Order: sequence, then structure tokens, then C-alpha cells
Amino acid sequence: MGEGGWVDGKAEYEQRFDDVLSAVASACTRAGRASQEIRVIGVTKTVDKQAIDPLLDVGVREFGENRWQHAREMLMHPRRSEATWHFIGHLQTKKAKYIVPNFDYIHSIDSVPLLQEIERQAERFERQLYGLIQVNVSGEETKYGVEPHYARALLERATQCKRLQVVGLMTMAPAGVSEEEARAVFRGLSSLRFELSEQLGLESLTELSMGMSDDFPLAIEEGATMIRVGRRLMGDSFTPAG
Ligand SMILES: *Cc1c(COP(=O)(O)O)cnc(C)c1O
Repeated sequence: MGEGGWVDGKAEYEQRFDDVLSAVASACTRAGRASQEIRVIGVTKTVDKQAIDPLLDVGVREFGENRWQHAREMLMHPRRSEATWHFIGHLQTKKAKYIVPNFDYIHSIDSVPLLQEIERQAERFERQLYGLIQVNVSGEETKYGVEPHYARALLERATQCKRLQVVGLMTMAPAGVSEEEARAVFRGLSSLRFELSEQLGLESLTELSMGMSDDFPLAIEEGATMIRVGRRLMGDSFTPAG
């Protein structure tokens, strides 16, 4: 990373991407799902901008960033338009003006003021974009995300938006939990999506962004449509804390 840092070549990214894709395929087989239902978001939050070329070359088409400071550098890449960009980190309302013109998806909507500010900036920049509500399924352990009952209020509010389309829910399993606990979190988000789309008649609420390097196979078994993969795709230079 950084100046003079070591950046892996195409072969290393290819091997890791193949490894991720075959783990996706096995999880899909176990769950009776089709691999095409899963979008793999490569989380580039701590990697050097030079990693974008080999990642695009091996077929990664979705990138996830969690901080504007790092993202702005990545977005200067001449091939940025070959990929879809996902903002996956906590977003302060006052930073929405930087994220809205540059990203296609925002996974971390967690308040009405943020929702409204995203819509306002989308109008200003004449953009259409997609959003997901970040939900804290497990309770106390993670800092970010809304309580499940507040997700409903946010979705109701979102139906008034013209430029922002809320298409799903996102969550993170708390770090260091057991497989069963992680699975319970993913299953909880999956049933919440189902209930909310039924109750509010929202056919467009189809996405579940859940699962990271350690737990994406479980998330896929529980219905994930987007997985966010950092370490397992980026290799040893990746710093998970970002
Ligand atoms: C860092 C990060 C990831 C990727 O984590 P890995 O465990 O390295 O795969 C996914 N989602 C969010 C929100 C992140 O901040």
C-alpha cells in the first residue's frame, strides 16, 4: 500500500477471485440457488489505486469503499466507469454531497435526515441512485445500523423519494461470533426483508447485502444477493479495519 508499496499482479488477483467464485458456487449449490443471483463486491477500502487494473482485468466489476477520503482517490482512476461503485461505510449526513455524485449504491442508510439529504443531493446532481437500509439485527454489538422497527419507518419515508430508490437491506454480523450466531443474523435480515416487502407492498425491495470474507457462504445460504469481500480477494496487504 501507499508509495512504493507492493501491489499484487493479475495472477494473484485471478487466483483469489476464482477461489471466491468457487466458494460462491458451492454455497449456491447447497442452497439451491443460481450463482448469477450473487453480486461479488470487491472491497478496496485499503488497497492501492493500482489494484484496480488487475481487479478489472480478472473480471471484478463492483467495488466497495467505506471512506470518502480513500474513495476519492480510487475514483480518479481512468477506468472507474467500468465498475459499479458501492459506498458501504458509515455516512455522515454532511458527507452525502461527496458520495451521491460518485457512487451508484449506498448501503449504509441509517436515518431519515441522511435519507433526505441523499435525495436532495441526487436532485442537485441530477442522479438516480440505489440505496439499502443498514440494519443492526443482532442488538448491541455493532455500532451502526438501525433497529429493525426503524427500518420500516425509513422505508415508508423512502417511498417519497424520486431519485433514490431503496432496493434492499444491509447488515454486518458482529466480529468474532460463532457460525450459528452469524447465520442467525443473516436469517434475521432475510426474514425482515420478506416481512417488510409484504407489509409495505414493496416489490422492489429485493436486495440483501450481507456476508464478508469469513462468512459469505453462510450469508448466501441465507439469501444474500450482494456479498462484500475484502481480505479474501485483496490478499495480505489488506487491512480489515480500513
Ligand atoms: C471492510 C468491510 C468489508 C470487507 O471485510 P472483509 O472481512 O475483509 O471481507 C465488508 N463490509 C464492510 C461494511 C466493511 O467495512
